[in-house]
Amino acid sequence: MADKDISRHEGGREVGGAGSPEPYESLIEERGPVARALAPVAGFGVTIANMFKPTVTEQYPFEKAPTKPRYHGRHQLNRYPDGLEKCIGCELCAWACPADAIYVEGADNTPDAQFSPGERYGRVYQINYLRCIFCGLCIEACPTRALTMTNEYELAGPSRAGMIYEKQDLLAPLSDSMLAAPHPMVPGTEDTDYYTGAVTGPTPEQIDWVAQYRPDDPTLESVRRADARSEATR
Ligand code: SF4
Ligand code: SF4
Repeated sequence: MADKDISRHEGGREVGGAGSPEPYESLIEERGPVARALAPVAGFGVTIANMFKPTVTEQYPFEKAPTKPRYHGRHQLNRYPDGLEKCIGCELCAWACPADAIYVEGADNTPDAQFSPGERYGRVYQINYLRCIFCGLCIEACPTRALTMTNEYELAGPSRAGMIYEKQDLLAPLSDSMLAAPHPMVPGTEDTDYYTGAVTGPTPEQIDWVAQYRPDDPTLESVRRADARSEATR
């Protein structure tokens, strides 16, 4: 059986070791009498120092703390000023996602059902918030700025399936001056006119089209009211 090492440290010197009888200098400084006397209560220093600082408890959910302007929260699928959707169903966001959290199915726009400028639109759009890590790579990949992130951080669902947000959960709300899709593009324009900001709102032709095919569409009324207001201020 090997000899038991009975060395011990005493005053910065090793003594009693069987194999190393030479003394050595310890790097640990000797504590003075005052430091030794205060040692038992030194651990309370942090506690006492914090007792006199202002309280930082947040009263969430009664008071929601504002986020930083560029905080990565829930996604949003944006629209053009006339109400057409910006998403063209290209799937670039889904390919860019490192967590495989996005599922997109594109479909063709038709003269009877034009959802976005150009040939294609996003028919199915899902984001699985159980997978999303809010990295923002998807919004960087989007060629039309259809996909952006809001500051909304309250994301909850009743079940695992409830955490998969569908297109209707992600689409930006329609403002008073927007006409719900589908409807034709502004006459005489191409998709590039939309990208460059040439379209500023619905035209009478688009309003007439929706009135003909969806006379009960609630956005017709709000668009007409917004039109009347802007006429009055001219
Ligand atoms: S934020 Fe990141 S993880 Fe979430 S959907 Fe976009 S790319 Fe995927
Ligand atoms: S959100 Fe953007 S990147 Fe994703 S499918 Fe739509 S257009 Fe393409």
